[in-house]
Amino acid sequence: MTAGGFGSTHGTVPAYRVTVARVRQARQCSARRTNGEPCRAFAIVGGTVCRTHGGAAPQVRHAAYVAEFERRERRHFDVIYERWRQEYAEWQTGRIFVVAKLTGIPPERVTAFDVGWCRGLYGAPAGEETAPTMRRDRRFRSVQPPR
Ligand SMILES: [Zn+2]
Repeated sequence: MTAGGFGSTHGTVPAYRVTVARVRQARQCSARRTNGEPCRAFAIVGGTVCRTHGGAAPQVRHAAYVAEFERRERRHFDVIYERWRQEYAEWQTGRIFVVAKLTGIPPERVTAFDVGWCRGLYGAPAGEETAPTMRRDRRFRSVQPPR
């Protein structure tokens, strides 16, 4: 059972409670210590600073949450777009082969016009309404906003 927390792999901690990534993100705190050395502690999820350098402040947590949410959404879009592109190409290829079989035109020479013409004459291949659409991915469930 997954809670859908950022970077979580198991457990029941709600996403908005996760302040440190389960799978360590590469990002380290961008602040400097009083002795001038870089902090090097892990930054809060989605943010650029650790908890002791402002990462615990509500406005910083919120900004980090929004940034992480946007990254997640972008990643989600890339995943579902790529899947859709693949499925659409396969679907279109299938239609071209139907046209090739019905008309005797070699598949590599079938045009959009041939598809429409074939459809009008034989009622096949299926129209755009049967084309695959982009579907949400369960790996990118929506998460509740922080309090
Ligand atoms: Zn720090």
